[in-house]
Amino acid sequence: MSLTKKILIALVLGVVVGIVLTFVTESVYSNLDMYLLGPVGQIFINLIMMLVVPIVFVSIVLGTAGLGEPTKLGRIGVKTISFFLVTTAIALILSLSLAYIIKPGTEGVFDVETADYEASSAPPIMETLVDIIPTNPVEAMSTGDMLSVIAFAIFIGIALAFLGEKTQGISRLFEQANEILMLIVNLVMKIAPYGAFALIASAIGGAGLDAVGSMGAYMMTVILGLILHAAITYSLAIWLIGRSNPLEFYKGFFPAMSVGFSTASSSATLPISMKAAQENLGVSKNVSSFVQPLGATINMDGTAIMQATAAVFISQVYAVSLDFTDIILIILTATLASIGTAGVPGVGLIMLAMVLNQVGLPVEGIALVIGIDRLLDMLRTSLNITGDATAAYIISEGERRREEKGS
Ligand code: ASP
Repeated sequence: MSLTKKILIALVLGVVVGIVLTFVTESVYSNLDMYLLGPVGQIFINLIMMLVVPIVFVSIVLGTAGLGEPTKLGRIGVKTISFFLVTTAIALILSLSLAYIIKPGTEGVFDVETADYEASSAPPIMETLVDIIPTNPVEAMSTGDMLSVIAFAIFIGIALAFLGEKTQGISRLFEQANEILMLIVNLVMKIAPYGAFALIASAIGGAGLDAVGSMGAYMMTVILGLILHAAITYSLAIWLIGRSNPLEFYKGFFPAMSVGFSTASSSATLPISMKAAQENLGVSKNVSSFVQPLGATINMDGTAIMQATAAVFISQVYAVSLDFTDIILIILTATLASIGTAGVPGVGLIMLAMVLNQVGLPVEGIALVIGIDRLLDMLRTSLNITGDATAAYIISEGERRREEKGS
């Protein structure tokens, strides 16, 4: 049976078992979770997390060195960032429109009185930008500071491209390291169905269905936003710019989407999304190595959709009206907040505080959505990594056509 099929079965079984677990007693669930589901899921996450820093480092060095001339690197860099920004803006406009049409916060009973949330302060944007250049690259690697690892790797890649023949030995070393890492990814993928099953069953069983209650409309608004963004924005980009069939794209990328769904972490899914893009979608290694790690760190359309919907939802629950300037502010800050969100579970919700603060909405509102956020986190992470793969795919196709024309 193919891996995709196995993962699909694991997803369905995970959801079914998770729902069943919401009916068993608390102690049955917690024992199962502590001794079986939790450890299996965690081992799977640890295995892929173990690969993230080395893969990002090695593949960005190779990707940058392989792009060769600085103009090509610049061109791909500009295309990547533009694609990320434009799609995030579309995601925000789409989700704001949905939130105003569906009005998820106007019906139902919300416990505003007891809502309490302590927002941790978001780092100032200038500091974040300056800190991208690491003063200590080894520390950046040990703490998993992705943007800094990416920056350092780009420098090494440029130097290797520049020195060419002279550093052939080291280039070869990086190539071989990449082979080793990819082989380990293949091994880890063999247990993906079990890991995905355990993570999903544990997350759904732990959330409980009664938490949904009056949050149903909010959840549906976010989910609709995620589906439409994938079905319209990405599909059109793949079809019109990538000149390919979006269905084929989704079929090839499905294993990565399902791992994104079960881990709720773009960073953790990175080794698998790069493998799926390169092997199933034919994205060139150089482009994939450059675009996807960057995307997993800064491009989060799913997160932006949740943040915009949550902001409007909270404004409706607290009956605070937002004017046009507030809407523009939400678009700007949610773009920054989604860029600043780390690719790990739940951070998108922490960064929501920044958006709410900016337009003067009560930060305690986050307490209303926190209970049901895990499921949405799983879904938005799937979309986040799909956005990165879409960018990698259309840029890779563009480069291929360019080369064909040139030769
Ligand atoms: N979990 C998301 C991701 O890794 C980030 C978030 O929205 O919390 O992409």
